[in-house]
Amino acid sequence: MRKQKIVILGAGYGGLMTATRLQKAIGANEADIVLVNKNDYHYETTWLHEASAGTLHHDRVRYDVKSVIDQNKIDFIKDTALEVKAEEKKVILSNGEIDYDYLVIALGGESETFGIKGLKEYAFAIANVNSARQIRDHIEYQFATYNTEAEKKDERLTIVVGGAGFTGIEFLGELGNRIPELCHEYDVDFKKVKVICVEAAPMVLPGFDPELVEYAVAHLEKKGVEFRIGTAIKECTPDGILVGKGDDEVEEIKAGTVIWAAGVRGNSIIEKSGFEAMRGRVKVQPDLRAPGHDNIFVIGDSSLVINEEINRPYPPTAQIAMQQGEACARNLVKLIRNKTDLESFNFDNKGTVCSLGEHDAIGVAFGKKIVGSKASFMKKVIDNRSLFLIGGPSLVMKKGKFNFL
Ligand code: FAD
Ligand code: NAD
Repeated sequence: MRKQKIVILGAGYGGLMTATRLQKAIGANEADIVLVNKNDYHYETTWLHEASAGTLHHDRVRYDVKSVIDQNKIDFIKDTALEVKAEEKKVILSNGEIDYDYLVIALGGESETFGIKGLKEYAFAIANVNSARQIRDHIEYQFATYNTEAEKKDERLTIVVGGAGFTGIEFLGELGNRIPELCHEYDVDFKKVKVICVEAAPMVLPGFDPELVEYAVAHLEKKGVEFRIGTAIKECTPDGILVGKGDDEVEEIKAGTVIWAAGVRGNSIIEKSGFEAMRGRVKVQPDLRAPGHDNIFVIGDSSLVINEEINRPYPPTAQIAMQQGEACARNLVKLIRNKTDLESFNFDNKGTVCSLGEHDAIGVAFGKKIVGSKASFMKKVIDNRSLFLIGGPSLVMKKGKFNFL
């Protein structure tokens, strides 16, 4: 009998969890498994705020995909997926095409700009290794240039962060550590630097525990961050941003750097391939398959799973992507073995920890609130755990975070 072919698109958290669980669960003669990723490396998306601020080198956040897969069982193809042709059971890649019996779409998300003018052209998004390196270099260039110009442009030293969600706050935490270093390195007066966070909602980290939010805001304000709450970015220009509280008032904030950290949507391939989607995300069936497609699973940031308790989607996180990867692998094993009783995915929320720089954080873990060095310790444990789940102890030893003090 012909071996069935499983194609996994994306070697992020969801894709690698699926691949590493499948390689353990099935024999080499049971199925052909192919993993496609646009780079030959995996990056820890959850560490990109550090690489973007320049507090962690970008090589620390990535590792070779081949170092965690069993190449006797999985073929790795470095290529970019362009479109899924579900009717024809094939995926169009930049350098060819690949057919499948079962497909796992784990391509992550993309920055959501809500159609706001100028954001795509003039703002940066913390999206991958290349964008993180570009942000770090751009900020450093502003500092390096400042003192070389006859007429000093103070706005070079203004950094605007759009969105006070977890990405915005974690990036601000890193900037809090990085800016004093940059001032020292480039002879810049710390008082000249402005870091402004613009948040449309009436609070920082909307919906998170108010006591923890208060701790984070106080910590970041002490590091020099100015918060503009209840204020939306309306436009981004080559000179900075336009913000407003209502429809009429519009204020310009001149800035040399604008970081857009105000939301994510699913990968554009989802809509391009004709899947029914909400903000680029497929509302998957309980078994994680796309409705109407019995051989296509969608996991991670390109999927949408409803939290039945509040009837709202779970936020897209690495935590849920990894758990989906495990469930997806188990369901694929069943399909390959001609079983029909697929399991329903149940998210086990272990909590949320948000870093505020290297040695501080806030969070709720296993139902308990934590702050400060205890929370920071927990954040590193979580970071190391995700390495462990994918690459075992050797990956933790190579890439793990052990700077606990
Ligand atoms: P990803 O892990 O993003 O992987 C997608 C993969 O697909 C990548 O390897 C990419 O290169 C590849 N790819 C993309 N397009 C193509 C293509 N067309 N062809 C081929 N390959 C492609 N979540 C948490 O739970 N905890 C946190 O602490 C946390 N911190 C975060 C910090 C930051 C700065 C950011 C930006 C996000 C954070 N998140 C966190 C959210 C989390 O990173 C995402 O939810 C998670 O990465 C989603 O996993 P995924 O498998 O869907 O996609
Ligand atoms: P988000 O959607 O969680 O937050 C975006 C923020 O931007 C919101 O507070 C929103 O009100 C604000 N915003 C939207 N439009 C705006 C505008 N025009 N002007 C100003 N503000 C505007 O997005 P995120 O922070 O990028 O997080 C994405 C996902 O990744 C979430 O699911 C989050 O939970 C997850 N994440 C988790 C962690 C962690 O667990 N430590 C860290 C980073 C990201």
